[in-house]
Amino acid sequence: RESKGKLPRYPGLERWTLLEKMGDGAFSNVYRAKDNTGQYGEAAIKVVRKFEMNSSQGDNVLHPDFKKAPKTVERANILKEVQIMRQLDHPNIVKLLDFNENKQYYFIVLELCPGGELFHQIVRLTYFSEDLSRHVITQVAKALEYLHEDAGVVHRDIKPENLLFYPTPFIPTRNPKPKSEQDEDKADEGEFVKGVGSGGIGVIKIADFGLSKVIWDSQTMTPCGTVGYTAPEIVKDERYSKSVDMWALGCVLYTLLCGFPPFYDESIQTLTEKVARGQYTFLSPWWDDISKSAQDLVSHLLTVDPDKRYDIKQFLNHPWIKESQEETTAAA
Ligand code: ADP
Ligand code: MG
Repeated sequence: RESKGKLPRYPGLERWTLLEKMGDGAFSNVYRAKDNTGQYGEAAIKVVRKFEMNSSQGDNVLHPDFKKAPKTVERANILKEVQIMRQLDHPNIVKLLDFNENKQYYFIVLELCPGGELFHQIVRLTYFSEDLSRHVITQVAKALEYLHEDAGVVHRDIKPENLLFYPTPFIPTRNPKPKSEQDEDKADEGEFVKGVGSGGIGVIKIADFGLSKVIWDSQTMTPCGTVGYTAPEIVKDERYSKSVDMWALGCVLYTLLCGFPPFYDESIQTLTEKVARGQYTFLSPWWDDISKSAQDLVSHLLTVDPDKRYDIKQFLNHPWIKESQEETTAAA
């Protein structure tokens, strides 16, 4: 992590004192920051460079437009990201607090998630117990239900790096080993955490609406951008794009339960083929002790045909989500 001394100062961002860097991407840096006015306390600020290299022209000096073309183009999608986030209000979605800009940068001020990425928690714990996985995935699903059913928005980039959390004071530190890996006499050494009664890991929040899209006008209940004469493929498009989030939800649930993703290959080409065919397995021994009900749910999400894939309502009504919810409420 960067030391305080190395943190940049941005003209136009005097209201905030940057405290530490929390994430960095190709075009953006995210900082934890303190509000000097005291209104928000702490927040996360995503600083995005306004201009990107004009990739349509690149450095191709042979291109006829090379001399005329601007070297850089202004990023348009960042404004869309902000516009979409502005419409959203849900406990499991990172809130947009403020938006600002100067000549060179956009500043997206976001509700701070001090727990950071869910991704790091999977790495730390190697995998999540079924209770903890349910506790996490149900919250993600509640956010998706809101996005798909109420807001008419698809996220399109659901993955552990974009799932952040607000931690409870008590965070689990270890997992029970799968039965197949436990020594007889050390059988309960790894025992931990019901997860849910204690508040689990905390409040999960979906972040990063950089690839999100409005697909349905929730006011008029019509597909976006069309007035009448809506073609069937537009209506289908809307349904298919929701199912993209459901596939990703399945990948996240799979990963939570066993600690590795359903599709992996060192060659991108092979990986792409595996995904296209929906080629995954519940790999032994890692999946041996995971309930058939959890596997059933995962398989209804990792279904290649988007028409047969579970939608958010079916997901939330699955026995693995519902029954155990009652069980854990009783146990709490
Ligand atoms: P990118 O489009 O570059 O992926 P993100 O919005 O996903 O941008 O932010 C990048 C990273 O910054 C996240 O993966 C996370 O680690 C961190 N981050 C983003 N927003 C927050 C936040 N509100 N609270 C804490 N960390 C955040
Ligand atoms: Mg991201």
